[in-house]
Amino acid sequence: MDKIVRAISEDGLVKIAVADTRGIVERARNIHKTLPVITAALGRTLTAASIIGNDLKSGGASVTVRINGGGPAGTVLAVSDNEGNVRGYVQVTAVDLPLRGDGKLDVGAAVGKDGTLTVIKDIGLKEPYVGSVRIVSGEIAEDFTLYFTESEQTPSAVALGVLVDTDQSVLAAGGYVAQLMPGAADDIAARLEENVIKAGAITGMLQSGMSAEQIAEKVLAGFSPRILSAEPVEYRCACSRDKVVAALLSIGKAELEDMASSGENTEITCQFCDKIYSFTPDEIGRLTEAE
Ligand SMILES: [Zn+2]
Repeated sequence: MDKIVRAISEDGLVKIAVADTRGIVERARNIHKTLPVITAALGRTLTAASIIGNDLKSGGASVTVRINGGGPAGTVLAVSDNEGNVRGYVQVTAVDLPLRGDGKLDVGAAVGKDGTLTVIKDIGLKEPYVGSVRIVSGEIAEDFTLYFTESEQTPSAVALGVLVDTDQSVLAAGGYVAQLMPGAADDIAARLEENVIKAGAITGMLQSGMSAEQIAEKVLAGFSPRILSAEPVEYRCACSRDKVVAALLSIGKAELEDMASSGENTEITCQFCDKIYSFTPDEIGRLTEAE
């Protein structure tokens, strides 16, 4: 089962959140019928959004991550609730690119480098908190590293990875965000960096059967880490017939009357999941009266 594990060093100066998101990313692939490089781009974004969302304390809070680097994938979007349950989509799902020289999926080329990564945190205040950074590489983990460092002023090591099997299903997916707390000296940063290099790729660790707890302990090796929490997360859509009705009402009376007089059912597909909401001409007609 997918989960997010949080751990902290004994001295309280280094913390980490590790996510195992294979189920989430495979669900996203099934919904959106993505090709491998897009499965990886969306999967990395969903994983990051889940980790950030899971850290939001207040109930009802949510985070939206929006990445647009001008590449063939277009916009990649993910939304998480405050428990880390996520949903998302990519504008263009059928992007096919040659593998990189090292045999990896070329997520950077699919996403592009000319654009921004934006994080919108809605914690129930009048205005949401919005942080935005220029995209560095389009590989997403590096882009989030810059986001945490620049926009949240928290030095961070970010790893995000999705391993796609030959049949295009998701073999492994997950990531971590390791962060230095205020007061952490340079030598702690250097030791963490060494650990990150020694730990290797996140997909390698997951594929070798390591649990999120074990990954947290490996990345924080030598810091006497303590596991704080382990919480289940899943792909979860927040759509409902009521929300679709609200969206329909917003398109205006004339448009609705056209739809009602067409004599055919109107089908609305949720952009985040595979639900289809169907409305008969009579039902659409009643919506025009409701206005
Ligand atoms: Zn939905």
